[in-house]
Amino acid sequence: MERAYEKYFRQNRLPHMWCPGCGNGTAMKAIVQAIEKKGLTQDNTVIVSGIGCSSRASGYMDFDTLHTAHGRAIPFATGIKLANPDLNVVVITGDGDCTAIGGNHFIHGARRNVDLTVVLFNNNIYGMTGGQASPMTPLHKKATTAPYGSVDRPFDACDLAQAAGATYVARSTAFHEKHLIDMIAEGFDNKGFSLIEAVVQCPTAFGRKNKMGSPADMMKWMRDTAVMTAAWEKLDEEKREGKFPIGVLYKGNSLDYSSAYQQVIEIAEGVKA
Ligand code: SF4
Ligand code: MG
Repeated sequence: MERAYEKYFRQNRLPHMWCPGCGNGTAMKAIVQAIEKKGLTQDNTVIVSGIGCSSRASGYMDFDTLHTAHGRAIPFATGIKLANPDLNVVVITGDGDCTAIGGNHFIHGARRNVDLTVVLFNNNIYGMTGGQASPMTPLHKKATTAPYGSVDRPFDACDLAQAAGATYVARSTAFHEKHLIDMIAEGFDNKGFSLIEAVVQCPTAFGRKNKMGSPADMMKWMRDTAVMTAAWEKLDEEKREGKFPIGVLYKGNSLDYSSAYQQVIEIAEGVKA
């Protein structure tokens, strides 16, 4: 029996460059398992990534892949989707890539409701470039650019996507791998902009700076601080302190961008008034 590892990953690009204990591999594997779960194939799926540790995933995945410029994965993916709306287009991005340099592309991708599945590997820091604070570094956590703790209020990428117009928003973690697969698979079902935030451990930059222990300790932190949405709803404000919800956070229903654009084509061609 062919293993997922042999089927979906480019053997000649392995071993990967991620640090031992990094959560990126878990999130990458969850994407291929979601693809398999939904019966999608390597021929009808395109993987597009930006720049950073997480974005290296596109090089390892045996699909049609694009490793693009910093923060620009969503515009590339939008072009692919508009040119061929039948493709399943997946964006892999990180918290720095997606919400700093790519922040504008992110909100406008959501605003247009482009039918993309964006999986944001959130390790709370810029890993590859040396541990600088990103817009998703939690308040008072340390980074090389915030040695006494960050005073910048962080983005909640899920809230941001929902406010900007995304029609499917979910969060999970590298600890809750099966749940993460389900969240991504459900994102594939949504015809519109889907954001799945995958909280992943970066033991090298974020964990070490913030004395979070081993990779296993960081995963235990996810186990102990992530709360399923149903339980989260019942928690009062005080008990929510230091914790975060996982699960489907929002589902909307709006026309996706390819369909809206098709209407424009039909008007231009005189098919439709
Ligand atoms: Fe993973 Fe962090 Fe190492 Fe990058 S720096 S590969 S995110 S552990
Ligand atoms: Mg990051």
